[in-house]
Amino acid sequence: MKALVKSKSERGLWLEDVPMPKVGINDVLIKVDRTGICGTDLHIYHWDAWARKTVPVPLVTGHEFVGEIVEVGSNVNDFFPGEIVSGEGHVVCGRCRNCLAGRRHLCKDTQGIGVNRQGAFAEYISLPMTNVWHHRPGVDLDQASIFDPFGNAVHTALSFPILGEDVLITGAGPIGVMAAAVCRHAGARFVVVTDVNEYRLDLARKMGATVAVNVREQNLADVQRELGMTEGFDVGLEMSGNPAAMQDMIGNMCHGGKIAILGIPSGSIDVDWNKVVFNMLTLKGIYGREMYETWYMMTVMLQNGLDISPVITHRYHYTEYEKGFEVMDSGQSGKVILNWRD
Ligand code: NAD
Ligand code: ZN
Repeated sequence: MKALVKSKSERGLWLEDVPMPKVGINDVLIKVDRTGICGTDLHIYHWDAWARKTVPVPLVTGHEFVGEIVEVGSNVNDFFPGEIVSGEGHVVCGRCRNCLAGRRHLCKDTQGIGVNRQGAFAEYISLPMTNVWHHRPGVDLDQASIFDPFGNAVHTALSFPILGEDVLITGAGPIGVMAAAVCRHAGARFVVVTDVNEYRLDLARKMGATVAVNVREQNLADVQRELGMTEGFDVGLEMSGNPAAMQDMIGNMCHGGKIAILGIPSGSIDVDWNKVVFNMLTLKGIYGREMYETWYMMTVMLQNGLDISPVITHRYHYTEYEKGFEVMDSGQSGKVILNWRD
């Protein structure tokens, strides 16, 4: 089968013929229909320091996908050929304390599809049945292919109650703008999204941000004043990994404000701990998606009118993957989809 492989320890990905994945007794074999390109895939493409120390070579990359089941292992009862499914990208150990307690997103031994084990940028992927999510019949396939990052957005946005609250989202990347749509859908009052990239601020507006702020041109104190806010943001969602954004957020929260942090900084960040202590802020790190409450929430919100379609800005055939990586790199994109059908 064809797959996008990290086959050399250098910049790039290569379209190659690789053997079909093995299907164990507990596994489900899926024919991949569409995949999304993630920032993680870009790191692997560029072969930066993180990728070099994390990713074994050779490896089929990619983890955001939707496809159709074509075969199931002899132990699998609940999945059938023909069903449309996505895969949870974190394969957990099932044996640690958190896994045994049903808190699988807190597993201490998580393996990432397309990062530590064979990925989804391929014609077929084999996954343990515990990682397969049934889609609702009629689900939009483009949207189904990005349930992984959509799940990051939902997990973060719903970490704290947001009904009626004023929410600050730093970073209008694909995940930040999906989080904006989720916050509006879930009843937040103001959803303010920041970035330094005008293309992405526009995308945030299309996804329902009350205000999209270029922090190089306007500060958050002024934005709060214009909105008539007097006490700061109730909930913050950090989705940039940028140190200045984190510091700005901490400086603009209300007393008792709650911050969920998804963005991955490249190094340590100086935090004004006096603000955290005296303003009694709560800081919570977010990794991945809750298995499978986040997946359930995504499914029902889409069914109930949430529209994330504007986040998908580019579509290519998998043979044109270089174009997809190029546009992702340029910052002039939302989600980029690769189609794996002929
Ligand atoms: P992205 O890199 O596409 O988006 C980040 C955005 O932040 C960019 O648009 C960038 O212009 C913007 N930004 C840069 N400086 C800023 C500043 N000072 N203020 C506000 N915005 C600024 O990333 P994404 O794919 O949307 O993901 C969001 C973040 O979440 C990334 O840091 C990513 O690494 C991380 N992530 C974490 C998890 C997890 O499980 N914790 C999963 C996926 C992604
Ligand atoms: Zn575990």
